[in-house]
Amino acid sequence: MQDREVEISVEAGFLHEEARIRRSIAKALACKDSEILSWQIVRKSLDARSRVPLYRLRLLVNPSAEPGLHFAYNASGLSANAPNAIVIGFGPAGMFAALELIRNGIRPIILERGSEVRQRRRDVVGIYRERKVDPESNYCFGEGGAGTFSDGKLYTRSTKRGNVRSVLETLVRFGADPDILIEARPHIGTNKLPEIVVRIREAIRAAGGEVHFNTRVDDLILQDGEILGVRAAGSEWQGRAVILATGHSARDIFELLERKGVEIEAKPFALGVRVEHPQELINRIQYKCAPGSYELPPASYNLVRQVRDRGVFSFCMCPGGIIAPAMTNPGEVVVNGWSPSKRNGQFANSGFVVQVEPSDWQQIPGPEALKAMLFQQRVEQVAFEQGGGDLSAPAQSIRDFLHRRSSGKALNTSYIPGVRPTDLRQVLPGFISDRIDGALRYFGKIMPGYAGPEGILVGVESRTSSPVKIPRDRESLEHPFVKGLYPCGEGAGYAGGIVSAALDGIACAAKVQESRSNR
Ligand SMILES: Cc1cc2nc3c(=O)[nH]c(=O)nc-3n(C[C@H](O)[C@H](O)[C@H](O)COP(=O)(O)OP(=O)(O)OC[C@H]3O[C@@H](n4cnc5c(N)ncnc54)[C@H](O)[C@@H]3O)c2cc1C
Repeated sequence: MQDREVEISVEAGFLHEEARIRRSIAKALACKDSEILSWQIVRKSLDARSRVPLYRLRLLVNPSAEPGLHFAYNASGLSANAPNAIVIGFGPAGMFAALELIRNGIRPIILERGSEVRQRRRDVVGIYRERKVDPESNYCFGEGGAGTFSDGKLYTRSTKRGNVRSVLETLVRFGADPDILIEARPHIGTNKLPEIVVRIREAIRAAGGEVHFNTRVDDLILQDGEILGVRAAGSEWQGRAVILATGHSARDIFELLERKGVEIEAKPFALGVRVEHPQELINRIQYKCAPGSYELPPASYNLVRQVRDRGVFSFCMCPGGIIAPAMTNPGEVVVNGWSPSKRNGQFANSGFVVQVEPSDWQQIPGPEALKAMLFQQRVEQVAFEQGGGDLSAPAQSIRDFLHRRSSGKALNTSYIPGVRPTDLRQVLPGFISDRIDGALRYFGKIMPGYAGPEGILVGVESRTSSPVKIPRDRESLEHPFVKGLYPCGEGAGYAGGIVSAALDGIACAAKVQESRSNR
């Protein structure tokens, strides 16, 4: 008997007991224990809804081959006369686009406004120590983009957009833990991501690609509906294929496109707060077994509730995590979250956000296509002011928020620049705070303790996705009116997370290659 797939459930405490697993497999396959020679775990997920938590395992029994990386990036160096393509932005979309270009024999010329990882780490620490935001190098900008100091959760709903497995295998090839290939909810962790990003950059350079840091693109060279190159760092870079993967926070790029008459449109996004609890409380709420009776990972949650015809939902939940300052400009406060690979912090945090629709930004003055972005920016500026102007974040206990009173006392959170107790209804637009109120009351009922005194709200979570969409042709993936310009990744509105951004990068690079071979 070879290569049979089977699914079994194993009680959490017995995950490493081979004899028990062998027995379960034999039972599921109606064969003798002795016929089970070996197995590989293909998928592993935890079901902790009952008093006895179970791991559900999909296994390949008696595999005929060693597990390997079948789809991971693999390419030899580029030839000296390889054609060029420009990639703007070195986040997940730009990185995976570059790897795919190389695989197709095209030399990526990557232009990245921020610094390389080592310097970028210092710049990020500057936010904590000196309370200064470098607009070129921060939690969103720099080598690896917003992915580098992200949480590194790798689950995605975009399974139809490409080969998710190939993205995960490529991350493993560059140093991620192979467990991400089998976990139902794979996670890398902020401490591990930077070294993976550096290895990808080194591989791109070793193959003959170019990566230029501190090189912000500030103009596009356009002629007769075609792109001929870009201007960056005082130089012209020529190229008839330009992948624009600048992320959701590159406001100057959106302004540039609007100014140059390159069609873009305002896009709905979500805005709200980050909610934080002691991790222990979330474990108690989510796990039904007696505390400490099983060794389980820190619990997470995923919440959705309609409140007066609008979705309110949790976003980017980080068990054992830290609330991070994710602004890209002085004069704004923006929060996000991450956790280390072990997820062993004291707190659990999550975005808690409300969908923002076109009717919400209609009154904002400014160009139509930038109104959602201007709305977002305005809320971030109010958060900065209400935080006291030193990058402290405005915060309130959930209980005080629901009782409509400011939190007077000091609040215990993981946000290192510190929080300023305030009334978050002064920061958030009314249609958002009212719906957050409604959703918190609901979740407080079905998750005892969630809306209790230990819960804290920290503002504002505003960079959930891009407030702008850059249109593109469904077939060629080029901008409908600018030949050779490939809007890509989260900033253009085609991804929402690391994996989907990577998939979109791969898709755009493949289209660059297709367009070249059709010439
Ligand atoms: C704290 C935090 C935690 C997160 N956690 C997760 C998570 O757990 N899982 C998940 O899937 N996602 C997470 N995300 C979101 C994820 O990082 C993004 O969805 C993803 O990075 C988007 O990829 P991208 O390549 O499209 O854009 P980005 O990663 O935003 O990259 C864009 C790049 O373009 C560069 N750029 C911008 N303008 C210019 C210019 N004019 N010239 C040159 N370069 C420019 C930027 O510096 C940046 O490096 C998190 C984000 C943050 C900030």
